[in-house]
Amino acid sequence: MKKVLNRSLLTWFLAIAFFIGLGYFVVNLVIHSSEWAQKPMNAHLSVTGLAQAGDIYDRNGVLLATSKDGERYYSNDYSTRLAMLHTVGDDSVNISTALQSVYRTGLTGYNFILGLGLPDSFRSSSDLNTTLDAEACAAAYNAMAERDYKGACVVYNYKTGEVICDVSTPGYDPYDPVTITEGDHTYDGVYIDNVISSTYPPGSTFKLVTAAAAIETIEGSENRLLYCEGSKIIGGEYVTCVEPHGEIDMKEAMAVSCNIYFAELAVELGPEKMTEYANAMGFNKNFKLDANDVAMSRYNVKDADTAGLAWSGVGQYTDMANPLHMAMIASAIANGGTPTEPYILESVNSFFDFKNILAGTHGRNGARMIKSSTAAKLGDMMRYTVSDHYGDSMFGDLHVAAKTGTAEVSDGAEDGWIVGYVTDEGCPLAFAVVIEHGGFGFSSAGPVANAAVAASARAVRGY
Ligand SMILES: [Zn+2]
Repeated sequence: MKKVLNRSLLTWFLAIAFFIGLGYFVVNLVIHSSEWAQKPMNAHLSVTGLAQAGDIYDRNGVLLATSKDGERYYSNDYSTRLAMLHTVGDDSVNISTALQSVYRTGLTGYNFILGLGLPDSFRSSSDLNTTLDAEACAAAYNAMAERDYKGACVVYNYKTGEVICDVSTPGYDPYDPVTITEGDHTYDGVYIDNVISSTYPPGSTFKLVTAAAAIETIEGSENRLLYCEGSKIIGGEYVTCVEPHGEIDMKEAMAVSCNIYFAELAVELGPEKMTEYANAMGFNKNFKLDANDVAMSRYNVKDADTAGLAWSGVGQYTDMANPLHMAMIASAIANGGTPTEPYILESVNSFFDFKNILAGTHGRNGARMIKSSTAAKLGDMMRYTVSDHYGDSMFGDLHVAAKTGTAEVSDGAEDGWIVGYVTDEGCPLAFAVVIEHGGFGFSSAGPVANAAVAASARAVRGY
């Protein structure tokens, strides 16, 4: 009797183990089959691959990539092709964040039930529609390329989240991929989309964070006056400004970008408050752009001495910022304290309709960064910076609120930044531009932002 019981238990055990194993296999098949099928060792794919992949379009239906007779084709326009390289991708998967790398499954028409064996009529219909504007991207690319700039430029609609312009340089023609020779640094980082995957010292653009922390923590701090003599010893180290700024309040300090004003505020706020506000404004936090992880911006003053804390408040010390994240900070200031989450993939036309699935994830608000009253004050300061210091002609007929930055990098050079948004009704654009080793943010990142924002405004307003 005991033997029968043991055998029966063993049979049950084996049966249960079998079904658990089967379940595990089926779940894995469903989740990972597309991935498996896309592996380079799948010989079937190398034949079909991108050569039969669907089309990629900009926001106006301009063709960015398509396949015909077993070949992959990109935009006929040279500037558009190079401007779109990092968002669309090339025949390789070297640019891992590009649409052709991330959505290769959808583009090639891979299907869980039918594998890659879908009839062409179905497969060719798996097209990607993006929010990008080809002309705006080309304008930004040309503005960067003609000055030999490396860096990132992003413009997005802060009401809807649509990314209009996303350009990373250096780039190359997808028809003529680069060969990188040892010792040649011309193409350093060429496979990286700097908008998504890079971080840079934020320099003075970080003063927006220090200002927000002070406004919400120290009563009346924005009206506080400081006499800037051009340099001051804080925590045993000289903190210097470009020139003596005289007697200034916070608005003026923002406009002239006084280091001493914000370094002193950071020290007064202390490491905990500064970290609290940096975190609230998205530092040390994960973001996504569609399926891609965005490089994390960093703020860490745990081991900082007083001088380190002072410099952290003006975007130096160990501070690092991602361009897309800085554009989100601008969008939060424009939106009363809450950022809109950006996105590029508008819809997927495929055998299975993804339109409704995607629609639910578009235009969401991120977590509140600052109070709406703080956003209004920061917005006023940024608007004043442009109208009274840079001049409105910088952005043509558009009214822009912005903050520039010139950040010292480790090799003694300076990265140039500009972060801001358009205040005009009907043109809700937030932007961030960073130019590696560009020097003064106003004169390096400024003209690129001008070109990108003007072209993006035409895309959004239609004139
Ligand atoms: Zn100063």
